[in-house]
Amino acid sequence: MKRVEGFNFSFNSSACASCGGACCIGESGYIWVNYPEIEAIASYLNISIESFAKEYLIRAKNRYSLKEFKVKELGYSCIFFDTENRVCKIYDVRPKQCRTFPFWGVYKSDTKELIKECPGVVLDEDN
Ligand code: SF4
Repeated sequence: MKRVEGFNFSFNSSACASCGGACCIGESGYIWVNYPEIEAIASYLNISIESFAKEYLIRAKNRYSLKEFKVKELGYSCIFFDTENRVCKIYDVRPKQCRTFPFWGVYKSDTKELIKECPGVVLDEDN
């Protein structure tokens, strides 16, 4: 069980295998990537930064986000989520946003949506 100070829940990553990627698929959103992350993913894919940007990035709010695609009935998926095998295709170099899930600032005060979405989240008993 992983714990991070300031959060009122723990995270059991062994639940990831069974959930089918609820954090990579669902409502549309941004998957922010910074320049070092872009470099790392492009290098992992063995393509140039330019090709990577063209194929996989959108610009939003003065930042870069990975693209999404529509998945029938399930909402939107990160472009790097393999919806058939339910795995991240760039897991080893996934952005910080993905590596730090579910310990995001937004979930410090409100875990209502999070517990519906993520079976690995276990609320502290005093909640
Ligand atoms: S980069 Fe990987 S872990 Fe992050 S949202 Fe996309 S598929 Fe999920």
